[in-house]
Amino acid sequence: MELYNSLIQETRELTDKLPARVWDYDPGAAWPDTGSSELVLQKDAAFELGASGRGSANYVLFTSHPELGGRDQVILCGRDLQEIRGDCDFARIVILRVGVLEDDDEAVYRTLRDIEFAKYHVYPQGYMVRISPESYREQVRVSRDALRRGISFKALGMNYIRAYKQDPNVLGATVLFLTDPAADYAALKALAKKSADVTGTLTHIFEGLPTDCSACALKDICDEVEGMKELHFGVGDKGRH
Ligand code: SF4
Repeated sequence: MELYNSLIQETRELTDKLPARVWDYDPGAAWPDTGSSELVLQKDAAFELGASGRGSANYVLFTSHPELGGRDQVILCGRDLQEIRGDCDFARIVILRVGVLEDDDEAVYRTLRDIEFAKYHVYPQGYMVRISPESYREQVRVSRDALRRGISFKALGMNYIRAYKQDPNVLGATVLFLTDPAADYAALKALAKKSADVTGTLTHIFEGLPTDCSACALKDICDEVEGMKELHFGVGDKGRH
């Protein structure tokens, strides 16, 4: 199941041209994690990333192709937290290399859902994340105290990679942070929506939606994403035997 590969290519076309800093995975460099969500009050905040009125995008993509990403790296395009002086644009994109994609399709789908859920289990100290799945955005309030203690995207990226790698099916995780004002956040948000559409269509397929494309509300996404129809008809055939 390589349904997300075209979205990875499009993401790379939008981000590869931006100047970047890259760090290899080092779990010892992770930022302290509080283990549960922490409130950062506005009066204690230094600034917000991806706040309303600013560009923001957040999504996860899956592949089994090593050359498409998922190399246990943190990549930053734009200013690091210590260099930011006020509210700014923000995107966090994760590319995961997974080892189960040759498996039974339904098992693959359930694994993808479990892996994606890992993003709700990262609680960096002084870094309050609000994910808005229906708008494909992520908004973060960063505390002045965390900044004083040296919080950085490098450290945060290690927290996310560590969380994803707890799933044995994750062979590699690339976490890409963007704060560069030159990035096309609207285009990234459109890719976030497509990624959610692919995952949402998989949900419908595995819930047993009838295989009648002419009357199906998901036809647009299936026309666009290679492999989706084959997947549904394969599942449908299995159901009939
Ligand atoms: S393959 Fe056809 S019936 Fe199945 S989800 Fe896609 S458009 Fe709908």
